[in-house]
Amino acid sequence: MKITEVHLYQYNLPVVNGPYKMALSEVWSLTTTLVKLVADNGLYGWGETCPVGPTYAECNSAGALAALKEMAPGLIGAEVLPVPLHRRMDTLLTGHNYAKAAIDIAAHDLLGKHLGVSISDLLGGAVTDRVPSYYSTVIGAPDETARLAAEKLDEGYLRIQVKVGGRAVEEDVETIRKVWEVIRGSGMRLAIDGNRSLTTRDALRISRECPDIPFIMEQPCNTIEDLQKIRQQVSHGIYMDESGINLNTAITAAGTGLVDGFGMKVTRIGGLHPMRAFRDLCAARNLPHTCDDSWGGDIIAAACTHIGATVAPELLEGVWLAAPYIKGHYDPENGIRIEGGHIKRPKGVGLGVVPDESLFGAALAIF
Ligand SMILES: [Mg+2]
Repeated sequence: MKITEVHLYQYNLPVVNGPYKMALSEVWSLTTTLVKLVADNGLYGWGETCPVGPTYAECNSAGALAALKEMAPGLIGAEVLPVPLHRRMDTLLTGHNYAKAAIDIAAHDLLGKHLGVSISDLLGGAVTDRVPSYYSTVIGAPDETARLAAEKLDEGYLRIQVKVGGRAVEEDVETIRKVWEVIRGSGMRLAIDGNRSLTTRDALRISRECPDIPFIMEQPCNTIEDLQKIRQQVSHGIYMDESGINLNTAITAAGTGLVDGFGMKVTRIGGLHPMRAFRDLCAARNLPHTCDDSWGGDIIAAACTHIGATVAPELLEGVWLAAPYIKGHYDPENGIRIEGGHIKRPKGVGLGVVPDESLFGAALAIF
């Protein structure tokens, strides 16, 4: 099965009840980039990539489109198999994992449809049909964040991630304490996510002022060097998120014992094929991790759910989706929804969601 056409689209996703506020940025609306790959047997597959604005990571929606346009002509005639396809993409463009991920996801969708299996089957096999999600609060007042935590606990979430940073450290500590008062003893796990914003001074202070609260600190500071600096000085677990920009950085972080786990994004690491390798290296080192994406609709949500369903349950920290912040679905019938803090693994071949492509308007480019 070979690629005969590549269609590129962009689509606007306004943030429901926006903005989505992190320590260093807030977003009101996101432009997602969609790829439709058409194969020589008439089948087609969908992929998607959606950076959370231009400052969350070294990627943005205009860059995604430009990178896909750069690669697309060279993909015509390529085999729809992950290993040769990734090698082909690497001969066409260096880096730009987040754009390659959209092609990778579309190829997995195509391959699943061709073989009559789901993407989780392609990735080694699902171990559950009910995949845990986790809830992420925006930067918010202590009482409001605690109220949200109580609500999400009631809904059935097993884990909550509290955003911190970009404000007085006292307010972060008060927020963490109030959330812990609400969830203590419930079994709900707690992560605090600095999204790279904290100085090492403030990260150390938060850890030292909350020795009794068993949270993990997700990407508290900006660089790998910052994480190395605080590593030996905190008693809390440290997870890497934004600094895990590819398989290589993840291998080093896992292999050197720099981190106790990861927040990982399918598009940041380059798609489902490298995500599968990441899953297996984490299993080899007994490191928990998420299977998220930064943002996006039903296509990226289905991809994250499929890989999440294949992770050993004791190592899966959850699958974060932008679904609660997005109005409507690409696939009105089988769109990916979070219910009771969990996501039902999509049935059907490939992604198991089929977008209504009339939503996306005319393709911006066809190769
Ligand atoms: Mg994070």
